[in-house]
Amino acid sequence: MDSAPVVVVGSGLAAWTVIKEFRKHDSQTPITMVTASSGDAYPKPALSTAFAQNKLPGQLRNGVASELAATLNMQLQTQTRALSLNLAAQTLHTDHGDFGYSRLVLAHGANPIRIPLQGDAADRVLSVNQLEDYQVLRDRLQPGMRVLIMGAGLIGCEFANDLSGAGFKVQVVDPAPRALAALLPEDASAQLQQALSDLGVGWHFNNSVVSLHHHAGALQAVLNNGETVDTDLVLSAIGLRANTGWLNASGLVCDKGVVVNSLLQTSDPHVYALGDVAQYAFAHNRLLPYVMPIMTTARALGATLTGTPTEAVFPVMPVAVKTPAMPLLLALPAPGAAGEWQAADEDVWKFMASAGECLGFVLAGKQTSQRSKALQWLTPS
Ligand SMILES: Cc1cc2nc3c(=O)[nH]c(=O)nc-3n(C[C@H](O)[C@H](O)[C@H](O)COP(=O)(O)OP(=O)(O)OC[C@H]3O[C@@H](n4cnc5c(N)ncnc54)[C@H](O)[C@@H]3O)c2cc1C
Repeated sequence: MDSAPVVVVGSGLAAWTVIKEFRKHDSQTPITMVTASSGDAYPKPALSTAFAQNKLPGQLRNGVASELAATLNMQLQTQTRALSLNLAAQTLHTDHGDFGYSRLVLAHGANPIRIPLQGDAADRVLSVNQLEDYQVLRDRLQPGMRVLIMGAGLIGCEFANDLSGAGFKVQVVDPAPRALAALLPEDASAQLQQALSDLGVGWHFNNSVVSLHHHAGALQAVLNNGETVDTDLVLSAIGLRANTGWLNASGLVCDKGVVVNSLLQTSDPHVYALGDVAQYAFAHNRLLPYVMPIMTTARALGATLTGTPTEAVFPVMPVAVKTPAMPLLLALPAPGAAGEWQAADEDVWKFMASAGECLGFVLAGKQTSQRSKALQWLTPS
């Protein structure tokens, strides 16, 4: 199988970046990209800030697949879905035939989580995880419409800010008691909520949508507590689930994602994974569905696949929350770390362990410019 190409599944940031990294070391080994989408490149983080800037989907595209493929000397197989994997035969089965591989890179991302809703409009719920989804959102939204967002996490709050900034009447519903509850100390949540409320965002905490109905020419959501919310559009932002279903029969070890070691190698020595589909066994078994981990792992994997085994080592990777009403920069403690959030200064919170080590921070507003200084507070783990 050594003469077979390196096959990469997916065409998001993870796939394109690992191919670019590979080509820095090796210009000749055949590479084939197999992707269910058009393959065109775009910056996914821009999807939750694009409406207020009135960006059309085409304006977000930053690479045409065929042009990138020519530059990178690779084959492109678009609109092609991987369906199953035969590890022994080193063959990827797709809806457009079989692809043999010498090495396979799984970079096919995650899917929006869907909670089952009752009601005759349950199928009207949208999610935005791909450029095509953003097109659908733009097609459905007319000026001044009401939008109900399910989820007050990172993506939900970003869309709340973006859509209210674009003139829509936004309400947010979440089973948690406050915004970004899993990530922020209580008073930081309160400040973010206030900043978004000032833009007109309404909140329904400790609550969730149970059913969605067509009602008076629009939609009506019924919440857990019996309350009803009239709206024109429902956007679900309750999280993603790594797309591992089609790998189930292959025998590849999957848990919350495709499990990889620090070489990004799965349980099969010829198969690697990175991006939103990967679960990093060497980093507290976490999924890390963010840009920085992708850049780090793609660099390491590009070297590994071209003959220099290179372990991925994650630096501290702060995440920016793109809520212009109150921008945030978060460096979160490792899962399960003991300690508590303490207000350290105006718009600054530190996560402190009992022995006085700083294990994480939250910067808000103008303090987000203090990134370098804040990184120095952290005690190396
Ligand atoms: C709205 C939004 C805002 C975000 N903002 C930020 C941010 O500010 N900062 C940050 O760090 N991160 C952010 N993220 C997360 C970040 O964008 C993602 O972690 C990253 O883009 C994931 O890239 P990926 O290549 O792993 O997956 P994807 O971009 O999802 O790419 C997966 C690709 O695989 C293809 N595919 C799927 N299944 C198959 C199959 N069976 N066969 C063939 N092809 C398949 C898909 O068509 C797609 O092309 C944001 C995410 C969203 C949704």
